[in-house]
Amino acid sequence: MSTLILAEHDNAHLNPATAKAVFAAAQWGGGIDILVAGHNCAAVAEAAAKLDGINKVLVLDDAAYQHGMAEPLSAVLVHLAPSYTYIAAAATSFGKNVMPRVAALLDVMQVSDITKVVNPTTFERPIYAGGAVQTIEAKSEKIVVTVRASAFDSQPEGGSPAPVEAISFDAPAPKARFVSRESAGGTGPDLATARVVVSGGRALGSKEQFDSLLTPLAEKLNAALGASRAAVDSGYAPNDWQVGQTGKVVAPDLYVAVGISGAIQHLAGMKNSKVIVAIDKDPEAPIFKVADYGLVADIFEAVPELTEKL
Ligand code: FAD
Repeated sequence: MSTLILAEHDNAHLNPATAKAVFAAAQWGGGIDILVAGHNCAAVAEAAAKLDGINKVLVLDDAAYQHGMAEPLSAVLVHLAPSYTYIAAAATSFGKNVMPRVAALLDVMQVSDITKVVNPTTFERPIYAGGAVQTIEAKSEKIVVTVRASAFDSQPEGGSPAPVEAISFDAPAPKARFVSRESAGGTGPDLATARVVVSGGRALGSKEQFDSLLTPLAEKLNAALGASRAAVDSGYAPNDWQVGQTGKVVAPDLYVAVGISGAIQHLAGMKNSKVIVAIDKDPEAPIFKVADYGLVADIFEAVPELTEKL
C-alpha cells in the first residue's frame, strides 16, 4: 500500500501545495514516494526529499517534462503505477490537468478534491459548491486522488533527507505542443497558498481603482490579491485571481473581502479562512454572515484609511 505523489514545481521551486498532498497521504498510510518530473529540476528534488516520511524521490529530468504538460506526465505516472496503490497530487490547476488523464488511462474513477481522509479507502469531499460534504469509498485496486491543499496542513521537513533516484522514461510523442506561457505576473505571494488574501469585488468599479485601492493594502499585509467573479468578468482583475466555486479555493489565516457581497459561489472559495474581514456598505450583505470582523463603510474611504493606519 504505497503512494506516488506528483510534485508541482516550476523547475526551481517546489510548490507548497505538494507538501499538503504529502500530509494527506501520510494520513491514509503506507510508504510515500514523490515524482519530480521536469528539466534542470535538481533543486526541486532536493526540497521534496526534505519532507518528513518520504521513502524516496524519483527524478525524471528531461526537456520533455519542462513545461508540466499533462500528456507526457500522465504517461509517466501510468508507467510507474504498477508499483503503487495510490497516485496523488494537489487539486490545483496543475493536478486537475494531469490526474484525470491518469485515472482514465488506468480505467478507474478519480477521487477528486478530498478534504478529509476517513480511512485508507474512504474520503470526504465538498459538493454543491461546498453546500454539502460527500463521503466516498474507493473500491478500485488503484486509487487516483487529488487533494484540496487548503484543507490539509503542510508536511513538515524531516530529519535526514530521503534518497533521490534518477529515472528515465521516453514519453510517447505528444499530440499537444507547448507554445508559450503567459503569467498575470505580480510579485506578491501565490494566491492558493498565501497566509493573507485581499480580495476585491464589483464595488471597485474599474481596474485602475482595483489596483490603486487594493495593491497598497496587499503590500502592507504581504497578501496575495484575489477577486470575485464579478470583478474578473468586468476586467478589473485577471482570471487566475478569481476566488470561489469556479475559481481558486483558499483558506488563508486572514481573508479581507473588499466590496464583495458574499454570493454562495464566492463563499465556496473562502469560507474556511481562519479570520474573515469584510468591508461593504450594505449591512445586509451576506458576506457579513461569515465574517469575523465586519465594517459597514464605503470602501473608497475605509480602505485608504486602513492602509494608512497599518
Ligand atoms: P456584487 O454581488 O455586485 O457585490 C458588490 C458589493 O459591493 C455589494 O455588496 C455592494 O453593497 C458593495 N458595494 C458597492 N459599492 C460599494 C462601496 N463604495 N463601498 C462599499 N461597498 C460597496 N462568484 C465568485 O466570486 N467566484 C466564483 O467562483 C463564482 N462562480 C460562479 C459559478 C456559477 C455557476 C455562478 C452562477 C455564479 C458564480 N459566481 C462566482 C458569481 C456569484 O454568483 C456573484 O455574482 C459574484 O460573486 C458577485 O460578485 P461581487 O460580490 O463582487 O458583486
